[in-house]
Amino acid sequence: MDDIQKFIAGIPKTEIHLHIEMCVSSASYRTLMDKYGIPQDETTNALTDFSKIVSLESMLESFFFVQSFFREPEDFALVVQDVIAYAKRNNIYYIEAFASPSMILNRGLIGFDEMFDVLVKEFAKAKRASGVDVRLIVDVSRTFGPENAMNNLELTRAFLARTGTSGIIGIGLGGQEIGHPCAEYDAVFSAARDAGLHVVAHAGEEVGPESVWEAIDVLRAERVGHGISCVQDPALLERLKKDQIPLEICPTSNIITKAYVSELSDHPIREMFDAGLNVTVNTDDPILFSIELNEEYQNLVHKMGFSRDELLTLVRNNLMATFLPEHEKEKHWKRVQETVASSIS
Ligand SMILES: [Zn+2]
Repeated sequence: MDDIQKFIAGIPKTEIHLHIEMCVSSASYRTLMDKYGIPQDETTNALTDFSKIVSLESMLESFFFVQSFFREPEDFALVVQDVIAYAKRNNIYYIEAFASPSMILNRGLIGFDEMFDVLVKEFAKAKRASGVDVRLIVDVSRTFGPENAMNNLELTRAFLARTGTSGIIGIGLGGQEIGHPCAEYDAVFSAARDAGLHVVAHAGEEVGPESVWEAIDVLRAERVGHGISCVQDPALLERLKKDQIPLEICPTSNIITKAYVSELSDHPIREMFDAGLNVTVNTDDPILFSIELNEEYQNLVHKMGFSRDELLTLVRNNLMATFLPEHEKEKHWKRVQETVASSIS
């Protein structure tokens, strides 16, 4: 490891934009393929190979294909192990991760409560064993329309009322952005806010600034997933800067889905950071895209000219953008600073 790699690996980090389904390891695939007799053929290879992904649409195709391997609630224990292993490899102590029930429920083999009972229980167990704290955000999804999203919200509320768990902290809007404007999910987000849930939305990943405007003004999303099309609109940049709305930037993901940028060196994260926006760094779909969080930070240094101090600002932005209580954020940040200082001296 060179000095920068060591520096980055030594920083305790958080991640706030991660889909657990896209953390499934090849070992877990094999376990499930053996269990259900799923053949390793051309389709399997194509849909689990990120080099075949050329847009958000083809990414979603892979996403749903991966989900089709999960046929019994206990299968989700494998995902939990994979997420924790990923976190440990990257020195991540806290994650707010998306879990997407829509396609699982549509297939009819596993119910919402069965899925989340396993996830919440297994993440709690994993936290006791590893110290890595993973909280879930239910992706109500825009792919299947507002009615389906509202149903997911109702199921989330009922689950929380029954279990009282702190393992689920909010809802997110993921899925196909083109043709599914944020504004259609106004009622879902308003009901979620009334229920005391945190609300976040993917926007400006594949659609222009109007999508980000809707996410912040109509949905009142507390954070925006991606939001990179904001650079097309000076008024939006001004607004994001003024309100310091956290932007969950996932550089490699944007390069792979190709909507606005095809080279890391051209990624607008540099421009957004320099414009004073509240930028955070995440991987989105680490195993599918074959990207580790440590590597995302390395790329910022080598391809976008970020300094060590700027990396620490991004690490702090990530932590402060989590939904942890303020006193916990401060406690963690103190520890991060002490760790970094001791590794440098
Ligand atoms: Zn995402």
